[in-house]
Amino acid sequence: MNIVLLGAPGAGKGTQAAFMVEKYGLAHVSTGDLLRAAVAAGTPLGVEAKGFMDAGELVPDALVIGLIKERLQQPDAAKGVIFDGFPRNTTQAVTLSAEFDAMGLKIDAALAIIVEPEVIIERLSARRTCRICGYIGSVVDEVCPKCDGEMYQRDDDMPDTIRNRLEVYEQSTAPVIEYYSGAGVLVEINGDQHPDAVFALIQEALDS
Ligand code: AMP
Repeated sequence: MNIVLLGAPGAGKGTQAAFMVEKYGLAHVSTGDLLRAAVAAGTPLGVEAKGFMDAGELVPDALVIGLIKERLQQPDAAKGVIFDGFPRNTTQAVTLSAEFDAMGLKIDAALAIIVEPEVIIERLSARRTCRICGYIGSVVDEVCPKCDGEMYQRDDDMPDTIRNRLEVYEQSTAPVIEYYSGAGVLVEINGDQHPDAVFALIQEALDS
């Protein structure tokens, strides 16, 4: 099974992806995580990507698509993939479809987690992330409840960048929802509720 998770930054994609990895044994492919790892490692790709990320802009397609192709070659991808934060525009969506066609694979479902912008701004301003394991928590988590790691605020979770990321989402990423609707695989999920309730809806969609 191959799933695309769609939704604005802060809609809960990372949290739901973690639940899905546990239940369905899929590989979690987050372009945001891959890019942050490249930035932390100081690779040439990371150096090039950092400015775009700090500004809340999309990293150029060629870099992201290169990362995805490399990631799909890893053995765990064979059991099925959850794409989180990718595709972020229609060019990436079309490229993914072509790549999957060539590999004899298909996207089984595109889950769009829908949350109103005001809720997103509140969530992202309060979001804190574990530097060690990537756990997504909030300001109330002084240390990571999973691994005791340091919780930090991502550079792009600062107010000005959040606004820009939401604009980029509306312009570039919202059309991807239309793309998957046209492909007949879109499922809309109300993301403005407890993560367990959101996951219940996702399971309903995937298990039916
Ligand atoms: P995320 O963790 O998914 O919110 O991504 C953090 C940042 O990484 C985004 O604001 C973009 O700058 C960059 N990024 C992540 N995924 C993509 C993608 N598919 N295409 C372009 N840029 C991306």
